[in-house]
Amino acid sequence: MSDNLVVELYTRHPDPCPECGADLILHENGKFGAYYGCIYYPRCHGSAAAHSDGRPMGHAVTHDVKVLRILAHKLFDKWYNAIRMSRNDAYAWLDTLFDVDNVHIANLGREELKILIETVQREMKRC
Ligand SMILES: [Zn+2]
Repeated sequence: MSDNLVVELYTRHPDPCPECGADLILHENGKFGAYYGCIYYPRCHGSAAAHSDGRPMGHAVTHDVKVLRILAHKLFDKWYNAIRMSRNDAYAWLDTLFDVDNVHIANLGREELKILIETVQREMKRC
């Protein structure tokens, strides 16, 4: 076991594999650090993020939600930079959009991501 892990290798993630429902277990390798991977890898590529010490980072989500998060983040950054809004103001706007404090795109689910993407796309057309 690596020195920086506080969780034992091959420990199960609390969530099931987002792709197939099997167990996700903790792995660590030099290139990507700690992560939870499906026990049916390579047949299944389901995975979930981990902190560098091995604790789960958020919930396990499907690949399409991960892709939506990347897209939403790119569009959001592009939009607020284009209208010269500060990062702080942009995140305050995001809180207003969802009526929640300290919204992080990395924690948004599929429906919220779709709302964000559609809203930003609408705003960008008005620029
Ligand atoms: Zn799986």
